[in-house]
Amino acid sequence: MGKKKAIRTEYLLIGNSAGGIGAAEAIREVDKRNSIKIVSDEPYQAYSRPLISKYLAGERNVDEMLFRPADFYSRNGIDHLLDRKVEHLSLDRRIAQLASGEQIIWKKLLLATGGVPIVPKMKGGDKEGVFTFLALKDAIAINAFIEDDSQAVVIGGGLIGISVTEALMKRKAGVTVVEMKDRVLNTILDETASSIAEEALRQAGVRVVTNQTVAEVTGGDRVDGVVLDNGERIRCDLVVIAIGVLPRIELVSGTDIKVNRGIVVDRCMSTNYPDVYACGDAAEAYDFIYGANRLTPIWPNAYIGGRVAGYNMAGVRAEYRGGTAMNSLNYFGLDIATAGMVVPPDDRHWEVVSQRNNGAYQKIVLNDDLVMGMVFVKDIEKSGMIFSLMKDRVKVTNFRQALLADDFGLAYLPRELWQECLGTVPAGSTSAFGMPAKAEEPISSE
Ligand SMILES: Cc1cc2nc3c(=O)[nH]c(=O)nc-3n(C[C@H](O)[C@H](O)[C@H](O)COP(=O)(O)OP(=O)(O)OC[C@H]3O[C@@H](n4cnc5c(N)ncnc54)[C@H](O)[C@@H]3O)c2cc1C
Repeated sequence: MGKKKAIRTEYLLIGNSAGGIGAAEAIREVDKRNSIKIVSDEPYQAYSRPLISKYLAGERNVDEMLFRPADFYSRNGIDHLLDRKVEHLSLDRRIAQLASGEQIIWKKLLLATGGVPIVPKMKGGDKEGVFTFLALKDAIAINAFIEDDSQAVVIGGGLIGISVTEALMKRKAGVTVVEMKDRVLNTILDETASSIAEEALRQAGVRVVTNQTVAEVTGGDRVDGVVLDNGERIRCDLVVIAIGVLPRIELVSGTDIKVNRGIVVDRCMSTNYPDVYACGDAAEAYDFIYGANRLTPIWPNAYIGGRVAGYNMAGVRAEYRGGTAMNSLNYFGLDIATAGMVVPPDDRHWEVVSQRNNGAYQKIVLNDDLVMGMVFVKDIEKSGMIFSLMKDRVKVTNFRQALLADDFGLAYLPRELWQECLGTVPAGSTSAFGMPAKAEEPISSE
């Protein structure tokens, strides 16, 4: 590809998803004039990645998945370069080299590059009919491949594995989930909640195989089955690999930008390199439960981190208050809400309040009278309030025993909190669900 003339921009955002859009919106709030360019190697306008399972299930089309209206970019004077991959960054010269041959020179750079699926080395893993499930193109490819009564093996019983399983079942496929650990959803649920979720899967007709993984994919050019570690053969037409996602850090590997598991950022979402920021699944940002930087790859954290980065890029100081792993799901008709540490790391100083009735399960993990984690299954009505206590670091000393009581509500909370829940707080203080009235707002301009 021939070398083309370099284009200059004030703000270059790599990644056109939750993080990139969050940043673009925050920048435009404070800088209406200077140029913003968003580059994405996907060909679509920003869409909601969590909805790709709804697309596969036939419940949403692409237009119904858009994160922002079709005229978002033109209305905000944002130049979006789609289907273009950034191949290389020259940090000292501030140049991004695109696969198309174009070069972009930035003043401020955001890395909102998200994640890449983990694909294990596996005999037969390159056959037609083996998929990953991370992007809309994956859902489109599976959609074009399956037929009624297709048999699928999903490798991985985590969030992505279960979401693709539900979509495939809605498409009348038969599904076997193969999970390497001893229980499904093991990173976000405790043992009891996992067993309830597993039972819901079985009730829906999913076969769940735990403590196993796929050793080999069999067939000619096309998949016809898998062989598990224990030698069992399962006939299938397609295999979906959903064993996890890693931060997409290829652009900064080997550069001066500090990377741990993800790109390391401070509370302003700034990397250690001048004028380079990062957010979302690619970054390791502050987790308020662990009190340290960690990967917390969920959509709201990416968006809020992007907004914080955007303000700082535009010269207005803002701080990320921190996020934590938090999920609210409904799979196979089962409501689940989970956040923070759902299993205490050791016995000392930890207290667990839990109850089970009528198939519902609720558990709150406390340390030093602070809520550090929660799991709600089936009856999740109070989970928002508990998450609020967790996020706001409210000491529950005086109402600890009442946390799971039927009548637990605003009246138990300290006055300033329930006033806030009723919407009577003055602007600028914290909101009912633990975020500042707008978590992503600038805190001050220094
Ligand atoms: C199936 C599925 C279900 C999910 N469900 C939920 C859920 O229910 N709730 C929730 O909170 N989260 C969910 N998530 C996670 C959520 O989607 C992510 O946390 C979120 O998308 C992260 O946003 P991001 O902006 O950091 O990155 P991404 O959304 O991953 O976007 C990064 C973008 O950057 C592009 N890019 C990367 N490198 C380059 C390059 N070199 N050049 C050009 N473009 C590049 C990528 O192609 C991609 O388009 C789900 C994810 C999946 C896959």
